[in-house]
Amino acid sequence: MKKRLFTLLLAAALLLCSKPALGDYSFSADADAIEKAADSVFMLEVYSYNNRMLATGSGFVAFDSSLLITNYHVIEGGSYVIAISDDLDEYLVSGVCGYDKNRDIALLCFDKTTNVAPLPLDTDGNLKRSQTVVAIGSPAGLRNTISIGNISGFYKNSGKDWIQFTAPISSGSSGGALFNDEGEIIGITTATYASAQNVNMAVKVEEAIRLYNKWDKKTVAKMGNMKGYSYPTASQQKDAKEGTIVWVSGGGKKYHNNPNCSKMRSPVQMDLMDAIEQGYEPCGKCYK
Ligand SMILES: [Zn+2]
Repeated sequence: MKKRLFTLLLAAALLLCSKPALGDYSFSADADAIEKAADSVFMLEVYSYNNRMLATGSGFVAFDSSLLITNYHVIEGGSYVIAISDDLDEYLVSGVCGYDKNRDIALLCFDKTTNVAPLPLDTDGNLKRSQTVVAIGSPAGLRNTISIGNISGFYKNSGKDWIQFTAPISSGSSGGALFNDEGEIIGITTATYASAQNVNMAVKVEEAIRLYNKWDKKTVAKMGNMKGYSYPTASQQKDAKEGTIVWVSGGGKKYHNNPNCSKMRSPVQMDLMDAIEQGYEPCGKCYK
């Protein structure tokens, strides 16, 4: 009897604690909940192997405290990321658990465990046009900017399922979080039409869930070793000291030590690191 009473009390307590029933609750009107969600969204600074900042973007923690979702195009060509939290804490991220270039999604892994709360994901996918959405990301490097809008439409393009929405985003918002009005992630803010007004696109969160389910939960690759992008070899990285000048030819994709190298045509001076980043390779004769 006592046990039954306890269960009833517990059930009553749980009801009191739970958020108001669907229909009453509005994440977009709950500034405290949005502030809390922003703790799990990061501004990303993407760096090359030689510590040059290549891009800024956004990302958010999901599934568990060690994983970060972003767009593939945010980290492409990068070797590591510094993820900056809402409170200006900095985290090193150099692991990749999965990525899909075509669907523009990457699942990254923090180098050290964090205590950042993973954001809840919408799994029923019951989205309708006009529904309210909240976007959190770092447009133009403005960390964790909040914007509110609605779903405008749904599109399939190049094999990707897109959510079109109006909450303003800009360059740098890529990889940011798009929430429904229950405070669950529905998409990854990915693209905006610069010539249009508030025509913005998010990749559906299902794509990130698909990547997570495909992952063996053990293997973590190094960001600088992803396929489909040519990273400098170890010996190129060793050669590439700040200020080293090489010569590149107009005709080929080689760099040279010597502008008079017999294979040169219309030589142009260039910083070695720039040459490597632009895909030039040692000529093999004057530069091995
Ligand atoms: Zn040469």
